[in-house]
Amino acid sequence: MMIEKGRSATPLKDKKLFVFDLDGTVYLGKRIFPEAVKLVNRLSESGRKVLFFTNNASSTAEFYLGKLRRAGFEVSDDAVMTSGDVAASFLLTRRPGKRVFLLGTEALKNSMRQRGVGVTDCADGKSADIVVSSFDTELTFGKLTTACRLLWNGAEYFCTHPDLRCPTDEGYLPDSGAIAAMLTAATGVKPVFFGKPHPVTMEAITESTGFSKDEICVVGDRLYTDIAFAINSGVTSVLVLTGETDAKTVGKLPDTEMPDYVFENADGIYRRVFAKE
Ligand SMILES: [Mg+2]
Repeated sequence: MMIEKGRSATPLKDKKLFVFDLDGTVYLGKRIFPEAVKLVNRLSESGRKVLFFTNNASSTAEFYLGKLRRAGFEVSDDAVMTSGDVAASFLLTRRPGKRVFLLGTEALKNSMRQRGVGVTDCADGKSADIVVSSFDTELTFGKLTTACRLLWNGAEYFCTHPDLRCPTDEGYLPDSGAIAAMLTAATGVKPVFFGKPHPVTMEAITESTGFSKDEICVVGDRLYTDIAFAINSGVTSVLVLTGETDAKTVGKLPDTEMPDYVFENADGIYRRVFAKE
């Protein structure tokens, strides 16, 4: 361990829910981190709860669950949540019965419909009350036009996550935040964002898991999504240096952006949580 800031009243070993980021934290593209597999499986064995949260709503929780299990993570059926799930929960509880036009993948659309969100493609010529945009890898000009028309006519606007670009093995892809920026440029309407770093996401996590903020820690590799999410939500933050952030960057951080804990990799967390007393 390199840094222990001591902002949190509850030590890491007493946390009951560990919220892990995916890419850069438990794997990098196709490369699985064995230290992360060991940590996650031991946390579960010890009775602690593990939740994987990703902003990437272009795939569903079931997809990520399959990927994690094939990689050796022993995880329960409810162990994955995406920013799309946060959007769905919000719409169901705070905007019940509304017609929603979605700029998202078929996978996200089906998942939202299954949960009871009234997603419509407006093919019936009727309007929608709400536009939700996401990382739509199946985006068409027709969908963009419909979304803009609805926003010009006063529809409410939400976006699943603010990420501007998505790292892949072949380089970056334009992500949800970039698509939202295009809609905003055309209509002047700015979305309300879900996902990390927005605290509404922590509300969805505490509501669905039943844990209080003091019992939760967030583990991730990105400062402006994972760590900012924990800090904005008043939850203990744990940075691992296996993804986007290096030690040099951490050294230059102002106190307000500094994670509570920084580890080289998941093994540092393992040793911290399971150290003999
Ligand atoms: Mg990450």
